[in-house]
Amino acid sequence: MKTGIVFHELYLWHHTGNHADYIPYGFPVEPLHHSESPDTKRRIKNLMDVSGLYNKLTAISPRNATKDEILLFHTDNHYEHIKSLNGSITTDAGISAPTGIGSFDIALLSAGGVLEAIDHVIDGKVDNAYALVRPPGHHAMPNKAMGFCIFGNAAIAGKHALKNKGLSKIAFVDWDVHHGNGTQTAFYEDSDALTISIHQDRNFPTNSGLINETGEGKGSGYNINIPLPPGSGVGAYEAAFDRVVIPALEAYKPELIIVPSGFDGGAGDPIGRQMMTSEGFISLTEKLMQSADQICDGKILMTHEGGYSAATVPFFAHSVIETLAQENMGITDPFQKIIGNLGQQELQPHQDSLIKEAEKLIKNIK
Ligand SMILES: [Zn+2]
Repeated sequence: MKTGIVFHELYLWHHTGNHADYIPYGFPVEPLHHSESPDTKRRIKNLMDVSGLYNKLTAISPRNATKDEILLFHTDNHYEHIKSLNGSITTDAGISAPTGIGSFDIALLSAGGVLEAIDHVIDGKVDNAYALVRPPGHHAMPNKAMGFCIFGNAAIAGKHALKNKGLSKIAFVDWDVHHGNGTQTAFYEDSDALTISIHQDRNFPTNSGLINETGEGKGSGYNINIPLPPGSGVGAYEAAFDRVVIPALEAYKPELIIVPSGFDGGAGDPIGRQMMTSEGFISLTEKLMQSADQICDGKILMTHEGGYSAATVPFFAHSVIETLAQENMGITDPFQKIIGNLGQQELQPHQDSLIKEAEKLIKNIK
């Protein structure tokens, strides 16, 4: 399996400044670090280096996205606003989206990395790809930065695939623990993209990602939210995939699947309350790959989003990328034994009820 990987050292130089998690410092908040720090991303790359996995992958060099590409999703005002902050020390560029010196340039490189990756997948230069980019993108709105996200990397890549690469149907499966509100917004009135987000019920943004947000106009029926209750484990995620995500993909038949891939659904994440494990992420990846093989010649692009436990996230990501590449580097996730045996990892009745509601949405897909 030929799996592409996008990474660049500059992704780690996007500086989010001193916060306590995501709260700006200042009395009575002592300065600490921001949740969205380079650590998780750096440690994913480091683990791939020491395991040898990185050398098994096909390196795809990122480039800066052009202004025209950013404007496939964003307003001119938003682009110019972020550009104007490029020389400023840490400031909030929108709603909880800190940027520092050079962040505009790095955000262009992040979006451009995802664009390069999607081109490689569409053109058949690789079978699938993982874009390990930063800053993340799925909360960014057309006119504002939001939730640690500056430009909507996945949404821009999707628009590019439809407008510039001749695709007519694409699907998103966002497994970040937070709602993919930006991606939903980008395609809310379109039927040429099926947007699916599986997330923790009303975590972030608050009151977003509800099950009744199903699209409007031509896009009516082509947005599926699966807002799992907090405490959902591998059983709930697997059931959501088996009963909603995979049947929806099979009904829609996209030419490409984009996965905004956050690992904050993992057990122990500081800002998520789900209980996913490496084995769980492997299982979801395998389900997607089997489905993609039948529907779209295996074409999957994953683009990195959240995940804030620097200890666990590298093992989740390594497992997923290893699965995409069909490699086995002999790395055992030392957290699996503990978090895999947490109580209520199996599907619970209240989670089953929510998934039953989501199953009803599949019939809207034509
Ligand atoms: Zn997230």
